[in-house]
Amino acid sequence: MNHERFYITDETVIEHIVSTQKQYFYAQKTKSINSRIQALNKLRDAVKQNEQRIMDALKQDLNKSEVEAYTSEIGILLEEIRFTLKHLAKWMKPKKVKTALTHVGSKGKIVPEPYGVALIIAPWNYPFQLALSPLVGAIAAGNTAIIKPSELTPSVSRVIQELLAEAFDPAFVTVVEGAVDTTSLLLKQPVDYIFFTGSVNVGKIIMQEAGKQLIPVTLELGGKSPCIVHEDANLDLAAKRIMFGKGMNAGQTCVAPDYLLVHKKVKAQLVEKLREAISQFYGSNPLESDRYGRIVSERHFTRLVEFLKDGNAIVGGGYNKNTLTIEPTVLSEVSWTSDVMQEEIFGPILPMIEYETLDEVIHKVQEKAKPLALYLFTESEDVQNAITERLSFGGGCINDTLMHIATPYLPFGGVGESGTGQYHGKDSFQTFTHFKSMLSQTTKFDLSFRYPSEKQSLKMI
Ligand code: NAD
Repeated sequence: MNHERFYITDETVIEHIVSTQKQYFYAQKTKSINSRIQALNKLRDAVKQNEQRIMDALKQDLNKSEVEAYTSEIGILLEEIRFTLKHLAKWMKPKKVKTALTHVGSKGKIVPEPYGVALIIAPWNYPFQLALSPLVGAIAAGNTAIIKPSELTPSVSRVIQELLAEAFDPAFVTVVEGAVDTTSLLLKQPVDYIFFTGSVNVGKIIMQEAGKQLIPVTLELGGKSPCIVHEDANLDLAAKRIMFGKGMNAGQTCVAPDYLLVHKKVKAQLVEKLREAISQFYGSNPLESDRYGRIVSERHFTRLVEFLKDGNAIVGGGYNKNTLTIEPTVLSEVSWTSDVMQEEIFGPILPMIEYETLDEVIHKVQEKAKPLALYLFTESEDVQNAITERLSFGGGCINDTLMHIATPYLPFGGVGESGTGQYHGKDSFQTFTHFKSMLSQTTKFDLSFRYPSEKQSLKMI
């Protein structure tokens, strides 16, 4: 199928989409609690009724197994909707605040209000969930939304387009399919909020474009997330949980453990246990496993295969160009200056570097950009405190990987180069909300000392 025929590259069409949404928003149609609840219910029903269609598209674009598609895309989204519906009324309530002595007679409150038209730009790695989770927040907060899915996963992009067109008036929620040209046109529009998920480099472009109109942004970006295995770690669990995080979606996960820092004393043992975990999850030939995903495109595949030259593939190392699959691979003898240690890997290759002291680890991680995630395997509370207090990162887990992202009770986002802003659960509502400060003044009396007067001016001299 020629997917590009769905791409909108005509500026007047895009202008029309945005102005139609502005009118819809100004008509107050998105703001009542009932309209928000109704829209979230509609979204939930649309997803539930089309589960097979969504899974088929994910299989086609990324060879995602149904289990993985459900747990990491559909299920997580349904949970986000459920959680939001449960708490929305409370989140929407204006909050009364205390009055300062200087403001006697007045009342202050903080009123949550939607921004207006939200533009959501999504990546390809969890192409369904990462387009629609932000939408839950946008709708809950009372905005209209335009979604631009990734062109690299065209089957999912199409399904999202069809599903939302069936569920919603395009003046309220619509999908604009396309690649860079389309996104560039969208970025020229006077939208009221931009929520971007993607790479650091494109994040910089988004921020620059948004800056021209001072449009507020959330940037959910990536980076190199370290995974530290200390000498006292439970290695059986560490190996399984690391491979769970690296194997999912063939390592094409923003919070995947990017590289491994392992204490010298346990390196050999860990390697063996990683090997066992891989064969337990994906069998003796992961390239043939229907539980194991493929690389999204030939360009990404070629980039990843190049990384294999940067070390010794002590586990895995095989690949198949025809199916765009690469085995889960552990690379040893990797130097900090090699290519694989410079940019986010975003594939199933795990470079491993050994250490002797925690200070070494801390200094090396500090030399790099603040990561999106950090994982630490240790039984020692002192080690946990040393790492979490001294290193800055978006979020992470102790003795696990990825799981911090899958709960609506924890905000998710990066810091520094790995992102700006956060979402999930209440934070999604807050992200798409402007909190308006309102002071209501009494007319029953007036305190005159604040007004300029001759007497006051003389006193001040
Ligand atoms: P990407 O930055 O290449 O693309 C993201 C979106 O931006 C796509 O919709 C794409 O069409 C658009 N885009 C690409 N180039 C553009 C340009 N020059 N101008 C305007 N728009 C442009 O990212 P990707 O390859 O789709 O996704 C992988 C990256 O996303 C990784 O770095 C990963 O870590 C990150 N990511 C982050 C999160 C998170 O939640 N923090 C989640 C998933 C992925």
